[in-house]
Amino acid sequence: MAYDFDLFVIGAGSGGVRAARFAAGFGAKVAVVESRYLGGTCVNVGCVPKKLLVYGSHFAEDFEQAKGFGWSLGEASFDWATLIANKDKEINRLNGIYRNLLVNSGVTLLEGHGKLVDPHQVEVNGQRYSARHILIATGGWPQIPDIPGHEHAISSNEAFFLKELPKRILVVGGGYIAVEFAGIFNGLGAETQLLYRGDLFLRGFDGSVRKHLAEELTKQGLTLQFNSDIERIDKQADGSLKATLKDGRELVADCIFYATGRRPMLDNLGLENTGVKLDKNGFIQVDELYQTAEPSILALGDVIGRVQLTPVALAEGMAVARRLFKPEQYRPVDYNQIPTAVFSQPNIGTVGLTEEQAREQGHEVTIFESRFRPMKLTLTDCQEKTLMKLVVDARTDKVLGCHMVGPDAGEIIQGLGIALKAGATKQHFDETIGVHPTAAEEFVTLRTPVAG
Ligand code: FAD
Ligand code: NDP
Repeated sequence: MAYDFDLFVIGAGSGGVRAARFAAGFGAKVAVVESRYLGGTCVNVGCVPKKLLVYGSHFAEDFEQAKGFGWSLGEASFDWATLIANKDKEINRLNGIYRNLLVNSGVTLLEGHGKLVDPHQVEVNGQRYSARHILIATGGWPQIPDIPGHEHAISSNEAFFLKELPKRILVVGGGYIAVEFAGIFNGLGAETQLLYRGDLFLRGFDGSVRKHLAEELTKQGLTLQFNSDIERIDKQADGSLKATLKDGRELVADCIFYATGRRPMLDNLGLENTGVKLDKNGFIQVDELYQTAEPSILALGDVIGRVQLTPVALAEGMAVARRLFKPEQYRPVDYNQIPTAVFSQPNIGTVGLTEEQAREQGHEVTIFESRFRPMKLTLTDCQEKTLMKLVVDARTDKVLGCHMVGPDAGEIIQGLGIALKAGATKQHFDETIGVHPTAAEEFVTLRTPVAG
């Protein structure tokens, strides 16, 4: 049967755009449909605007620290509306770049909602398009628990477009988004409290990292409320929001921001018209080739709920394009040793196993850890400390994990990701000459293991 397209991609986010562009580059006839914004979550309401807000927020500390270097500044003032307007301008520019990337690579771009009508057809704006392969790359959406008054809360989607900087904000959750945004609001001067339901936030990260970051954020005046969860939210006569916690405490704020994970975006997607199945968490179930239970339909990125990071969606998009249209270049995505950063202030950078994971997996481990005051802060009153940690296999000398909390940890960890991928041992680290004076050199000068 002749199809309109070889590949029809639903969703022009990180994974969808990558798959579409590369497939077209390999000679396939490709269409992509996007309902909301080109570039998807990352470009519009994720990585990019978030990082811009982190930069904006960090100036508060920079101004403070400048005094130690002889600078005297007038009283600093901050205008949220300017930051948001400039951020929006940059995002618009990026949307245009994404449009050009797609069109210039020969992809047919359709703007509207894509709905599957059968295993080989997608309907967009009342018109049906057939394709040999359909790729679902519809991403995710914030999930707010269904507590009384949840309609008064915002998610990251709205946080990027607030008209004003809230004076008092409660951030609920203990994952990437909660920690990053609590830092943003705190840095910009909002009275910020982070509420997390467990004992310590950032479950799954190395224990030393979690504790160290909690100490550093507390030093900066951010209130961390662990073992705290909201039972209900009530809007008060003066417009403020009252959160009643499960333990009976009451907190009042101008804004309550939930960052409690993301669900797959499957709204009105028409999955019921196909044999696509969901996994136990409600994400699209795929095999190792991103094949769903319906032979003509693939899925990747956040909608499969594996690792919700842009570079992972990009790698999956590339793998799908190659497997379908350039099989001789196909290589599976390696989900081990994915470097990642939390853009908290200070940053977390991490790659490989945490100490806890290494022990659970039966490794006999040697731990190297260092805490120090970054050189830049020695002329300032800032008491922030950097943490660096290596988890090493005592039998093979292989470095299993590198973890850091400190300025530019995200930048530093990328290179260490390559070292771990190449199978570096502690001896390789020791034999590497440091770059002096940097914080990063500490990773190659850690000599004495932590006792015990
Ligand atoms: P998306 O980028 O979400 O793209 C899906 C696209 O599909 C969207 O454009 C959507 O509008 C479209 N769509 C959905 N349904 C339909 C339909 N039926 N028809 C047509 N179009 C449809 N990752 C990092 O690596 N680093 C970070 O710093 C980082 N920061 C983040 C900060 C925040 C606040 C958030 C929310 C996420 C962040 N992420 C970060 C995660 C990253 O954004 C995602 O992992 C990534 O965007 C997933 O790409 P994707 O292609 O799967 O989906
Ligand atoms: P995460 O899954 O990282 O964290 C969700 C948090 O909310 C956890 O602390 C979880 O607690 C808590 N939680 C979940 N359900 C509830 C509930 N019903 N009530 C109270 N608390 C709850 O999700 P995020 O929303 O922070 O981010 C989504 C994903 O986006 C991230 O996992 C990451 O992959 C990606 N991302 C990446 C970034 C980066 O690379 N820098 C930045 C931002 C996002 P518990 O731990 O107890 O389950």
